[in-house]
Amino acid sequence: MTKKQPPKYMESYFIHGDNVSPQWDYSHHLNPPVTESVTYRLESAERGAAGFACYANLAEQAEHPIYIYERLNEPTTGMLEDRLAAAEKGESALTFSTGMAAISAISCLLTGNGDHIVSHDSIYGCTYSLFSNWMPRRGTTVTFVNMVKEDDWFKHIKPNTRIVYFETPINPTLELLDIEDICKRIALINKGRPEDKRIYVVVDNTFASPYCQRPIELGADIVLASLTKHICGFNTCMGGVVIVPKKLYNPLLMYRKDFGGVLHGRSAWPILVYGLPTLASRLRQQMATAMEISKFLTAHPKVEDVHYPGLETYPQYELAKKQMRSYDGSFAPGALLHFILKGSPQEAKKKGVKLIDWLAKNSICYTLAVSLGCVKTLIEHPSSMTHSAIPLEEQLTAGIQPGGIRLSIGLEDPKMLKEEMEKGLAQI
Ligand SMILES: *Cc1c(COP(=O)(O)O)cnc(C)c1O
Repeated sequence: MTKKQPPKYMESYFIHGDNVSPQWDYSHHLNPPVTESVTYRLESAERGAAGFACYANLAEQAEHPIYIYERLNEPTTGMLEDRLAAAEKGESALTFSTGMAAISAISCLLTGNGDHIVSHDSIYGCTYSLFSNWMPRRGTTVTFVNMVKEDDWFKHIKPNTRIVYFETPINPTLELLDIEDICKRIALINKGRPEDKRIYVVVDNTFASPYCQRPIELGADIVLASLTKHICGFNTCMGGVVIVPKKLYNPLLMYRKDFGGVLHGRSAWPILVYGLPTLASRLRQQMATAMEISKFLTAHPKVEDVHYPGLETYPQYELAKKQMRSYDGSFAPGALLHFILKGSPQEAKKKGVKLIDWLAKNSICYTLAVSLGCVKTLIEHPSSMTHSAIPLEEQLTAGIQPGGIRLSIGLEDPKMLKEEMEKGLAQI
């Protein structure tokens, strides 16, 4: 749902929201009550009719919401949507049951039989599978290009291209794509196209989070995220969100109503009450620790290279400084880092397995797990885990380093993180 006035102080807004919400009378509560009602008492046929009339009418919904049935609309998720739209500096937001439900909804809404998507070739695994296995079945083709290396990737845009899709920072290498530059170039192409043939720039902002990067401010049309990661932050709930311009709110709401992947109010509540209010403090602390760990790893004799956009030695440091900014404008290079162990591809891969296995058994701070953006530090070895299906040779050409380790920094004491990593590196 939309906000009338954009909030000025975002961190306070994440904690207090609009203070008084038309979505729920919680003037006596410090927190919004947990609601458990699938269907809603409508009182009269007239009110029922009014409910259906105002459904999918953004302005009406914001002013006088009438709830009918939980799959259509729900107060807790409504409040969360208001805040997420504001967090991304967008016009309106809709939540979904998972990040993938959000990604599939917006991709299917914007494309149909005969349409085309251009996507960066390194994207979240399930998004890649969605684009390569399922989209073609409904007549939408996808061209994967390396938007970092191929400067002329724009040549893949066709008259039927409807979406340009990417993530930045890119998983697992943490390379960056220049959001502003891409959006400017797409805007030029859109100038010569009628509205119904325009290309939408869709950015998955899960890795950075809106605290560190707001693609809409840089020109993107649509931003989406998995709420499961930084925004929830505690590894307790799944969820997804799509932030869209007002004109796409109703169509996306109708899509969600019929495809049914809504976020349950019980999952929205912890994100609204714990996740979003602590997002800024968590990330500030996690970024400070990420910086400290990056420097520690850079100086370590067993480490070949460290990729963290906050390091001055990072190849895309200037771009990171340009587009990764918190609300007050300070540099916000995120809480993820990727480091590469020394050795030949085979050696480095073995060392990577040894290191994560040792840490999984012996450390307290490092949890061997997929996912990211949690208060607990998570460690992953893409070459032997998420990307293990790809043969070693192909991993190398795809830029997956056999000795690459991904860290999602949590809130532990940085000294303890360094001590445990030092011990782990001594084993390999
Ligand atoms: C986790 C993730 C998703 C999918 O989110 P789910 O909530 O797990 O469905 C999409 N994109 C990125 C970048 C992710 O990390």
